[in-house]
Amino acid sequence: MSDVLAVAEHRRGELREVSHEVLTAGAELGAGELHLAVIGGDVERFADELDRGAVDTIHTVAEGEEFNHGVYVQALEQVAEAVDPTYVVTPNSVNGLDYAPAVAESLDMSLVTDAVGVDTGGGLTVTREFYGGKTEGEVDVFDDRAVVTIREGEWDAPAGAAGASIQAFDADIDETALGTTVNGFEEAGSGDVDITEADVLVSVGRGIDEEDNIPLIEELADAMGATLSSSRPIVDNGWLPQDRQVGQSGKKVTPDVYIAIGISGAVQHVAGMKGADTIIAINTDPGAPIFDIADYGIVDDLFDVVPALTEQFA
Ligand SMILES: Cc1cc2nc3c(=O)[nH]c(=O)nc-3n(C[C@H](O)[C@H](O)[C@H](O)COP(=O)(O)OP(=O)(O)OC[C@H]3O[C@@H](n4cnc5c(N)ncnc54)[C@H](O)[C@@H]3O)c2cc1C
Repeated sequence: MSDVLAVAEHRRGELREVSHEVLTAGAELGAGELHLAVIGGDVERFADELDRGAVDTIHTVAEGEEFNHGVYVQALEQVAEAVDPTYVVTPNSVNGLDYAPAVAESLDMSLVTDAVGVDTGGGLTVTREFYGGKTEGEVDVFDDRAVVTIREGEWDAPAGAAGASIQAFDADIDETALGTTVNGFEEAGSGDVDITEADVLVSVGRGIDEEDNIPLIEELADAMGATLSSSRPIVDNGWLPQDRQVGQSGKKVTPDVYIAIGISGAVQHVAGMKGADTIIAINTDPGAPIFDIADYGIVDDLFDVVPALTEQFA
């Protein structure tokens, strides 16, 4: 029977919901022992909160307060050496994607990221989305052992207390090999505008093509009295500041109206804006996932639609 090691995640003193979800996914991955590693922060409180579902043993590693790549990799290597799991399951979060590849490499395991389903009927098969969420596919893992990162929100939190054995794990962390130190946590500044407070957001995505075209969207936002926001590639390209980014690694927004222009509707973007009252999408691709959640959709070229809209509001 396959034993599983799940890994919890916390930020600024609070467990993230996905810490519970890895337990449910972990129970699906293996019928053997289910272990959970809790690394850093208030490990005893976290362990009490995570003593749910089918978890058998919770290993608490009291090292540091916030996430540190080197600490996680070293600690997980050592916990894995002790419990010898067939599968390691971690969140597909910014942190999880940071340490999971290094852990897979060091434990000589396969790595499958962003799982939305798992099946161990005949070896491990992982369901993933492809082409920006337009289609799902199954990945057969030929290796006997694998690290699987799971998409947040795809598994429910387990119900009921587990009565797990909570054990302090004395990891031997080589500080000289850490490479980085975490000095503190700084919230991304809210700059001159706070997109979380806006009633109407006009949001621009990669469909805008180049930085010189951003003013086209700014003009629409100005004409509507709306606030400008964006998807992540726009911020990654340095075309708008970080505080304008909507999504999983940006801001969560709940405006009355959200106009997504040239945004495909990737799950990480949708995570930040699906709470908007009315969603309007402008996209040339009728199959773009944004149309799955849009209340109104315009399948057309933004370079034609946006100036026409601006004219209407001016
Ligand atoms: C851990 C992690 C965290 C992430 N966090 C975030 C996050 O917080 N926020 C976020 O947004 N993304 C995030 N991402 C990235 C996310 O996966 C997508 O890559 C991103 O959202 C895509 O942005 P986009 O829709 O602007 O670009 P694309 O996916 O490239 O879509 C561009 C769209 O524009 C359309 N288009 C092209 N030309 C035109 C035109 N002339 N007129 C109209 N439409 C046009 C296309 O049909 C396409 O649908 C994250 C990814 C990871 C792995």
